[in-house]
Formats: sequence, C-alpha cells, structure tokens
Amino acid sequence: MSMIKPPHEIALLRECADLVAQTLAEVARHISPGQQTRVLDQVAEEFIRSHDAEPAFKGYCVSSSLPPFPSTLCISVNDVVVHGFPGSYVLCEGDLVSVDCGVYLNGFFGDSAYTFAVGELTSEKARLCTATHEALMRAITAATPQGTMGDIGFAVQDHCQKQGLGVVRELVGHGIGSRLHESPQVPNFGKPRRGRRLRTGMTLCIEPMINLGTSKVRIDSDGWTVRSADGSPSAHYEHMVCVTAGGPEVLTTYEYIEEIVPAPYERIQTLTYG
Ligand code: MG
Ligand code: MG
Repeated sequence: MSMIKPPHEIALLRECADLVAQTLAEVARHISPGQQTRVLDQVAEEFIRSHDAEPAFKGYCVSSSLPPFPSTLCISVNDVVVHGFPGSYVLCEGDLVSVDCGVYLNGFFGDSAYTFAVGELTSEKARLCTATHEALMRAITAATPQGTMGDIGFAVQDHCQKQGLGVVRELVGHGIGSRLHESPQVPNFGKPRRGRRLRTGMTLCIEPMINLGTSKVRIDSDGWTVRSADGSPSAHYEHMVCVTAGGPEVLTTYEYIEEIVPAPYERIQTLTYG
C-alpha cells in the first residue's frame, strides 16, 4: 500500500469522495431542532447502501479492547469533539453538530466531516466554525509537492492558536485509499518546512478538530466519545485532498451541503485551488 496513488486509484477515490459529500448533504436535509440523531444515522446508511456502497465506520475496529464503532455516522454535538454515537439525543436550537461520514465503494474509501448549526448559533460558536473552516482551507493550500506535513499542521495550529482556540492534538488526519486510515498521519500542529515531504499522488484527509476552550480532551466510558476536557464547544471539518503537480485538488466538496443549508461559518476570503 503506497502513499503515492496511481491515477486510476485517484479516480476511484474521487467517486468515493463525491458519494460521501452527497451523503452529508442528505443528512443536512434532516438537521433541525427536535430531530433525533439516530434518524440522521439511518438516513445516511440508507443513502450509502442505495448507491451500492457500504458505511465505512460501522463495525470499524481500532483495537481488540474497544467494541467496534456501532454506527454509520459519528455525530458529535457541542462539547463532543469526534466519535460521538448517534442515539436518542434530540437536537436543540443553537447546537453545534459535527457529522463525520465514511463510505466504502469499489474497494476504496471516502471520508469527510462537516460541523452544522442547528438554527442560530451564538457568536462564539459561529466564530469557532469560521476559524476551523479557515484552518482547513489554509492547510489545504499548503498541500503541494513543494510542501511538508509540518506546513499543513502549522497552517492549522497558527491560525487557531492566534485566536485563542484549542487545537486538539490527540487525533490526527490520515492518508486514505484502499484502507480508511493509511499512512501518513496528518497532525493539526507542526513547524513550517519540517516533517515529511509531500509528494504528487498522496491522498490525505485533512481534518482540524478545534475547541473554543482548552485543547485537552477526555474520553467517555464508552471508549469512543471524545469531549473537550473543559466542556467547551468543538468543531470539525474534513476534506479529502490529493497532492498534484498543479497544487491541491480537493476531492470532497461542501457544495451539495450548502445548497441545502447555509454554512455556519463566514467566508472571509476566497481561496482557489489547483
Ligand atoms: Mg472523517
Ligand atoms: Mg478522517
């Protein structure tokens, strides 16, 4: 399993990325106050299976000491950073809902996440979304064959820490291909021009996880649910990106989602890619 993907594999990953983007948009249609999070999970699973694909997270094992992940989506509300279980929780006005989705199609994986607003957010939660999305976009612009993994991590860390936000370090982005989580790791911290050199054909999931308060996290007794240690809200945006000679190609998209619901973040600058 090489970190450098040949063009025919990148083409398959593009299809996985498009399906995961469409699935998140299908979920977006059902996000509203009063909605149970398990309904969102059912919507996503049915949508993925109706496209001859499989949910990638359901049954996913990280170790023999932890039960497999039970659901199609990770649904992480407010202080939950990532890996929240869909269930009986009912969404409320003002909730911040991070939805992470993985699909398996034609032997390859797609993986993307989006933090939604349920109704109106407080200005602090909106600020968090804006900073996290901007951090992702800045990290993506660093994903060139001239760059390093440190450049990607620094882009996230620098942008968020300047704003007093907590950059979660315990969880990182990753390579993606015929496995969901491949080498290399893609940390949200680093030093410019340090770390692994990026190469044309790398396909990376870049996924800043940012807290409004402390960067520290704790894990619930279920072994999966990761929360901010101080209970502050958390946001998570994730794109699949291919490093190409012409610059980063973002394989996933939020365009489908944002045809359905308004973005919870402000677009302060327009960035264009490869
Ligand atoms: Mg993900
Ligand atoms: Mg991921």
